[in-house]
Amino acid sequence: MCLICDRIEMIKQGTNPYFVKELETGYVVIGDNQHFKGYTLFLCKEHKTELFQLEYNQK
Ligand SMILES: [Zn+2]
Repeated sequence: MCLICDRIEMIKQGTNPYFVKELETGYVVIGDNQHFKGYTLFLCKEHKTELFQLEYNQK
């Protein structure tokens, strides 16, 4: 399991301390390091390494 899938699994289990909000197609999390205050990331629910690997309605 990769780091991103690991984090998504932690969100599902309620153990990811960086989780902010669930959206329709993914999750909002804050970055592990806050070099830039408020830095956030969007993790797609279905982890892919390239955008073109997603179905059109997931983009
Ligand atoms: Zn993954």
